[in-house]
Amino acid sequence: MSRTMLPVVEGGAARGATRRDVTARFRAKLTANVTRLMRRSEGVARQFMPSVEELEEYGGTETPFEEGKDNRGIYGLERIYEDRAVLTPYFDCSAYCRYCFKKTRTLAGDGRAMTPEDVDRAIAYIAADPRIRIVLVTGGDPLVRPELLRAVLDRAAAIPHVRQLRIGTRNLLFRPELLDDAMADWLASYQRLDPADLAASRSLALAVSINHPDELYPAYVRALRRLLERGVVVRAQVTLLKGVNDDAATLRRLYESFAAVGLTPYYLYHCMPVVGARHFRTSVQRGLDLLEELAPLTGALAPHYVYVTPVGKHRLGRGAQLEHVERAGRRWIRATTPYRAVDFLAFSDSEALPPMHEVDAAGRIVSHYPDGEDG
Ligand code: SF4
Repeated sequence: MSRTMLPVVEGGAARGATRRDVTARFRAKLTANVTRLMRRSEGVARQFMPSVEELEEYGGTETPFEEGKDNRGIYGLERIYEDRAVLTPYFDCSAYCRYCFKKTRTLAGDGRAMTPEDVDRAIAYIAADPRIRIVLVTGGDPLVRPELLRAVLDRAAAIPHVRQLRIGTRNLLFRPELLDDAMADWLASYQRLDPADLAASRSLALAVSINHPDELYPAYVRALRRLLERGVVVRAQVTLLKGVNDDAATLRRLYESFAAVGLTPYYLYHCMPVVGARHFRTSVQRGLDLLEELAPLTGALAPHYVYVTPVGKHRLGRGAQLEHVERAGRRWIRATTPYRAVDFLAFSDSEALPPMHEVDAAGRIVSHYPDGEDG
């Protein structure tokens, strides 16, 4: 099914809709581990249980927040920053998160794996631009198809100017048993450190999404430790989700769990305005209020709160003032980004800025980000 063919329910929540109607549009998938966690934890269950609220007209299948699938005509490659390229070899996951920011790809089954030819073209593009220092391999979930991940990592690791390989995954939460010693050794083998020649060195980092402290069950913690013990950096990123973690006590417990396991706290994302995700989205201000309540978390444990626009991340520190504007019947947050229009157009290979984005007199992009709602 193409992105534009997805049906959109007219007006508000779908009256009389059932969970079957939801899964007909957005597939549901769980693993045994996730099912067990859902039985024990409401915070986990809400992330994975299909809800008729997903059928509310919201976001839309053409939203720029669900990531384009190609750049320069290369399927599976994306770029908006000078120093990094993003590869998505595989658009599927072992379980489906209902707030997924690629909902029309993963949960609607609209996405294919990169072919060997796609990988060849993406690697040739990265090899030809020495400004690219970081290659992020994300998903769907690249750890679901290790042989495809290996094909991509082997090639990316051979590019001399690449300093860091990153993997974005949630598969270790879903299937931690896959991360045995052999897989941990394999992933750690991509690290090369020559203390006398850092230009010839590179590291590997994993970014895992963990939204609730109940997700850190023993088998998962053991899998994460297997990587940490081999020197792999593991960053924990969080999506702020209404009814899951939008309270200071849960977030504090979560960040303190990261410290206990040895995970590096990474971004706290405001939930993106993707189709069917309205019920998960707090206001951006709610996240700022939580930062105040989380002030006792200091230094590396302090959350790095961001919202994601089609031109890049927008960081919000404690006490940030938001400018709200009403447009097209919605409430938006207007902000000048640190990103120059000329760079965005060059790196993303776009002919124009995304809708609701403008350029100021200094050439910086002014973004309008759709706010969420509390209550
Ligand atoms: S693991 Fe990531 S890509 Fe997969 S369903 Fe969850 S949010 Fe989406």
